[in-house]
Amino acid sequence: MVDLIVRGAGVLGLTVAWEAAKRGLKVCILDPNGIASMASGGIVGALAPHVPENWNSKKQFQFQSLVNSEKFWNNVDLVSGVNSGYARLGRARAIEKHGGLFETQPIRNLNATTVWATGVHDLDRISKLTKTKFRTAVKGQAALFSFKCMDYPQVFAKSVHFVPHSNGTLAVGSTSENEFSSPNATDEGLDRLIEDSSRIIPELRKHQPIKRWADVRPRSESRAPLVGKHPIMDGDYIINGGFKIGFGMAPELASVLISLICDGVDKIPEAFRPKNIR
Ligand SMILES: Cc1cc2nc3c(=O)[nH]c(=O)nc-3n(C[C@H](O)[C@H](O)[C@H](O)COP(=O)(O)OP(=O)(O)OC[C@H]3O[C@@H](n4cnc5c(N)ncnc54)[C@H](O)[C@@H]3O)c2cc1C
Repeated sequence: MVDLIVRGAGVLGLTVAWEAAKRGLKVCILDPNGIASMASGGIVGALAPHVPENWNSKKQFQFQSLVNSEKFWNNVDLVSGVNSGYARLGRARAIEKHGGLFETQPIRNLNATTVWATGVHDLDRISKLTKTKFRTAVKGQAALFSFKCMDYPQVFAKSVHFVPHSNGTLAVGSTSENEFSSPNATDEGLDRLIEDSSRIIPELRKHQPIKRWADVRPRSESRAPLVGKHPIMDGDYIINGGFKIGFGMAPELASVLISLICDGVDKIPEAFRPKNIR
């Protein structure tokens, strides 16, 4: 018996599933491509608040999510027994320990509530079916260096994020491309980013990247997250539009969605509500 089906095993799907599992719901996460196969499988993972200028409700929501993040991920680490840090397996293992299931094939359970956390795929569907043409995907490229600097803070300088990871690597990111032909190809845009990074941290010139990575960021029509009742799938829910800050937003987005589903308490910020276009 499954209470909640979550479609999509990126950071937003996994975080919703985790919130639901903590409340005792039996969850099944369904993703034909496995865990964190798209944007959430990336190498950057900067968890930085927005600048204080022009403060607004989206910035406040993200800030609250970041404030809650330490407790949130520590709890995931504790239950999973895996250091989630910036790795993806810690989150998944914690849900399994709460009785959650992972499936890559469709399952039969017509009674369970469904959450769509399928990133760009769902945004494309919404854009198409509602005839509201909008940009659903913005490509990003990033690089990973073997560069031990875990004791240094995360730095944002000249539009480049430098994110030290606990395994002795340093991620630099990211490009931002509205037009692209291949979502997963890296190119001279990343070369330029690496060159810019080396100007800021000259020591990096001594190292070759150990990984070059690219994927698309799920972007909603308003550029804000989308969370709540699904705009086209009657009775279903959506959590999407993490765009450039999906990891930072995940704990709080999942929390407001599960409050809505389980308690009927609606704490969703106005700007994040899907337009009712059914
Ligand atoms: C280069 C780059 C750098 C970034 N840096 C940061 C950063 O520093 N900090 C930050 O907070 N965010 C960052 N982001 C953004 C962040 O990665 C995304 O906002 C976040 O990963 C989106 O998560 P998601 O779960 O919504 O989507 P995704 O991770 O894209 O997951 C969607 C999942 O849905 C699955 N799926 C698709 N169709 C179906 C279906 N029909 N049924 C079931 N499953 C399906 C896919 O297989 C996929 O696993 C970055 C993104 C990029 C590309």
